Amino acid sequence: MIRLPRFKYVAPASLKDAAAQLADASSKPGGAMLVAGGTDLIPNMKRRQQVPATVIGLRGVAELRARQVNGAITLGSMTTLTAIVKDAELRTKVAGLVQAAAQVATPHLRNMATIGGNLCLDTRCTYYDQSYEWRQAINFCMKKDGDTCWVATSSPKCLAVSSTDTAPMLQALGARVRLVSAAGEREIAVADLFNNDGMHHLTRRPDEILVDVTIPNQTGWVSAYWKLRRRGSFDFPVAGVAVAAKLNAAKEVEDLRLVLGAVASRPLEISAAAAIAKGRKLSDELIAELAEAAYPLGKPMDNTDYELAWRKKMIRPLVTYALKDARGDDTTEQRLKIARQLI
Ligand SMILES: Cc1cc2nc3c(=O)[nH]c(=O)nc-3n(C[C@H](O)[C@H](O)[C@H](O)COP(=O)(O)OP(=O)(O)OC[C@H]3O[C@@H](n4cnc5c(N)ncnc54)[C@H](O)[C@@H]3O)c2cc1C
Ligand code: SF4
Repeated sequence: MIRLPRFKYVAPASLKDAAAQLADASSKPGGAMLVAGGTDLIPNMKRRQQVPATVIGLRGVAELRARQVNGAITLGSMTTLTAIVKDAELRTKVAGLVQAAAQVATPHLRNMATIGGNLCLDTRCTYYDQSYEWRQAINFCMKKDGDTCWVATSSPKCLAVSSTDTAPMLQALGARVRLVSAAGEREIAVADLFNNDGMHHLTRRPDEILVDVTIPNQTGWVSAYWKLRRRGSFDFPVAGVAVAAKLNAAKEVEDLRLVLGAVASRPLEISAAAAIAKGRKLSDELIAELAEAAYPLGKPMDNTDYELAWRKKMIRPLVTYALKDARGDDTTEQRLKIARQLI
């Protein structure tokens, strides 16, 4: 059994108290980390990837449990993924977010896992997601305790992979997050929450709490999320595709966002997608053009599951299926193909 390291645990009962405790503890040696569901942080602490001196539990903070689904949709950061999956209104309004949440981990983990924790999920890498002894045997790596990147030894930065399923979808939906600290509050786009850097992948400051996420009014929008993973029952994504499109009454695209997950240290938006699609119907021809536009931007590194070249090759079919799903096709057969890796 791998034991947790020693740490101090505090359980604030309000957002103000949590921000004050975080400001105080994060300025001290060893720093502090927030824990929501703990499904990422606790295993990481056991493996000594993250060793905060203080852990601040968010379960008692009522301000993090908002749910508003009229017009814009606001979800508190402590909303569990199970709550999202079971929410019939969300299923109608943001199908892509429900699909993304439903594909995270397992039902047991989703009962604990939160949307805030999923957005702030640590980046992953074959050389990092290992026990302390395994990492010690290779003299660690740049992301924790070492100085070399074993994926690209001349790389000045860590290339660990953004492996969150909901972040690409929330970015495609144009969502924003509210960050609160003892010093004040700011609101930023989900797209601006991330850096393409495996060690510094969040722009969130250590003293900030992600309070909630707001998705703009979805009238006229359709969305879908597709994911590649080894085990259909549960596994981190090795590629993900999130699409959100606004269609007019004639079913022509007014706006479209296409975001790739798990191919870089942050979700990557295909910036040309909206211009390619504008004013056109989501026809098979347009979908093929969008899949072609996405393909060169997906440059996965050799540091997660599966062979690198195959993961890249899978970007075209994943984009194709996600767009067909968003346009309302029956994609049951394609889902089975992806789950059984028959491509
Ligand atoms: C076996 C297994 C399979 C998994 N599969 C997947 C998968 O397929 N897809 C996927 O996306 N994830 C997966 N995960 C990772 C994890 O379960 C989810 O990402 C989950 O949503 C994390 O949420 P949490 O509340 O448990 O986060 P926690 O572990 O509590 O926190 C995660 C990180 O977020 C920070 N944090 C949490 N809440 C806040 C907040 N409000 N403000 C600021 N920072 C905060 C924490 O400090 C920590 O750094 C898997 C985990 C396991 C163990
Ligand atoms: S990408 Fe390099 S530095 Fe980052 S975790 Fe992997 S081996 Fe370590």
